[in-house]
Amino acid sequence: MTQSDPDRMQFDTRLMHAAAPDPPIGGSVVTPIFQSAMGVQPPEGPAPGQDLHDSIRYIRLHNTPNHLELQGRLASLAGAQAGLVCASGMAAISASLLTVLQPGQHLLVSQQLYGGSHAWIHAELDRLGITSTTIDGTAPSTWAAALRPETKAIYLETITNPLLRLPDLPAAAAFAKEHGLVSLTDNTLATPALCRPVELGIDLSLHSATKYLNGHSDILAGAVLGSEELVGEVASRLTLLGGCLDPNACFLLTRGLKTLGLRIERQCSNTQALAEFLDGHPAVEHVNYPGLPHHPDSEHARSWLSGWGGLLSFELAGGEAAARSLVQALRIPAYAPSLGGVETLITLPVDSSHAILSPSEREAAGVGPGLVRVALGIEGQQDIIEDFAQALER
Ligand SMILES: *Cc1c(COP(=O)(O)O)cnc(C)c1O
Repeated sequence: MTQSDPDRMQFDTRLMHAAAPDPPIGGSVVTPIFQSAMGVQPPEGPAPGQDLHDSIRYIRLHNTPNHLELQGRLASLAGAQAGLVCASGMAAISASLLTVLQPGQHLLVSQQLYGGSHAWIHAELDRLGITSTTIDGTAPSTWAAALRPETKAIYLETITNPLLRLPDLPAAAAFAKEHGLVSLTDNTLATPALCRPVELGIDLSLHSATKYLNGHSDILAGAVLGSEELVGEVASRLTLLGGCLDPNACFLLTRGLKTLGLRIERQCSNTQALAEFLDGHPAVEHVNYPGLPHHPDSEHARSWLSGWGGLLSFELAGGEAAARSLVQALRIPAYAPSLGGVETLITLPVDSSHAILSPSEREAAGVGPGLVRVALGIEGQQDIIEDFAQALER
């Protein structure tokens, strides 16, 4: 298929074809794995007008054919000028924040964060003299009070984990423009299938591609999407930090990505069904999922999110003890950290995403010891509901 203008095609078509090499390399329908650390260089030196750097092909420069196809495809999906893939989600987050923030500068950051990001921002960035103030991403009117002359960036998560709050991304984009800040959001839980932050005016959209983008729980990867200029700066920094993605992982991510549209659709419908079942169950105290009518943010967020994703969390009336019995009684979900794969996983965030936080930090983030998080896969819906029904019965 030739790519006359792939960016004008539908999302599901771009998952397969955007940025595919044209003509295909070696006539291959699927771009093979370029497992070669380096490429040969012209011995006569760079061509006239060519930068020496551009003539070097090396995995750490993110420029194998596997990188170029994958980065171009992710950028197209996100509605961004440029894309960069990284060794993990944390490599994407750390390289991006180290690029936009200098020592002495200040960051506004969501109160609710993935545990690794929380530790990176509140311990490691602090050590480098970069300070931060936590804000409520869903209350834009409160942000201005946290500004300082040295504030340089605002960092949110599109859908927060594990409480499923939905920060106001359009307001963050406008606020950042008004105050000269760089805006970033961790879009891992939404994916470009449900939300395209760059199209809303957010400067950088970050991903743990380990999760939904790859979807098969078999690699670690990250992605940074945004303008040519800003992504280029992050790429240069990542080249020096060394958190590059291996070509074999690029290949697997390119393969996993093709079914993102199908997977997310099923994961959203499975999650909606389980959320409704749990919400009506007498043993369940409270369910967090934007697809439920009592969710505090979802009405407003409909303008920038086209679905509510594959994650939900809930608390049982019996607290942590009941939660631990429940996860042992379930047959289908594996008790494991992480999310976004085709198989359903269940965890208590105190044992996984938020294990790195102290009990008081967890309390401040609203993550209680009895909170249960489910990341729905693509199994049959009735089997999942029946499994939860029998486990809650016990
Ligand atoms: C998992 C996750 C990360 C970290 O990604 P890794 O690929 O494990 O480094 C960052 N943000 C969110 C929201 C995540 O779920």
